[in-house]
Amino acid sequence: MLNGKVALITGAASGIGKEIAFVYAKAGAAVAIADINLAAAQQTAEEIKADGGRAMGVAMDVTNEDAVNAGTKAVVDAFGALDILVSNAGIQIVNPIVDYTFADWKKMQAIHVDGAFLTTKAALQYMYPNNRGGKVIYMGSVHSHEGSKLKSAYCAAKHALLGLSRVLAKEGAEHNVHSHVICPGFVRTPLVAKQIPEQAKELGISEAEVVKNIMLSDTVDGVFTATDDVAQTALFLAAFPNGALTGQSFVVSHGWHMQ
Ligand code: NAD
Repeated sequence: MLNGKVALITGAASGIGKEIAFVYAKAGAAVAIADINLAAAQQTAEEIKADGGRAMGVAMDVTNEDAVNAGTKAVVDAFGALDILVSNAGIQIVNPIVDYTFADWKKMQAIHVDGAFLTTKAALQYMYPNNRGGKVIYMGSVHSHEGSKLKSAYCAAKHALLGLSRVLAKEGAEHNVHSHVICPGFVRTPLVAKQIPEQAKELGISEAEVVKNIMLSDTVDGVFTATDDVAQTALFLAAFPNGALTGQSFVVSHGWHMQ
């Protein structure tokens, strides 16, 4: 489905991004694992190569414009083009607004919003010429549509991605660039595993109650979304042949937040 395509995926040394990298490579794409953790990115690239895929690890702090531009250029130098950007790198810091430090707020916006902007801007340098085109996929969240206690900075940042994606859908159309936001429910990655004890402590409840009563309470079946569910959605969107799908968000969440 992605034969001959080149994909750059940020935050791909772990969790959802890593799964997307494997699925894209299996579908025939050359994949760049861009991550702040270069050793883990290179390790992931080696695993994909051992599996018969084409991959490279790239050092990239998505909050740093020079690092984003240099990393994106390195991918194009190595693989000859850039067809798909998955802006996925992210972190989570939970706290009530009243206790949320401004430094943590700014860190959250920097990784999620600045990172999405900088990687998009860098990718467009290679997608716009000759209207070559491409797909830009942002990793939003059900929290792109919903608010949850303790997640002010995360919800604000994930909502912002909808705005960026909608503008890109309009500006990119004449260059054959299409944009999407994938909005997963809770996926049991290191990012979520860390939150379970933190939320239990903050809310004064057990870890099992955090999972059942907070994380999965609004799903239709009490089931975590899997990394592969998100990766298959990312594959479908990357392979979609035209602009009939652009500027939309796709909620992958076992029914949490029906649009
Ligand atoms: P994860 O912690 O498993 O992986 C995140 C990766 O991002 C790590 O490899 C980390 O090194 C990298 N990273 C962190 N800061 C970076 C930076 N400044 N520059 C480059 N890379 C950086 O997390 P995950 O659960 O796979 O999350 C991936 C994305 O999916 C995030 O944007 C997250 O908000 C989103 N998401 C996750 C869930 C979930 O339940 N896990 C749900 C909805 C959305």
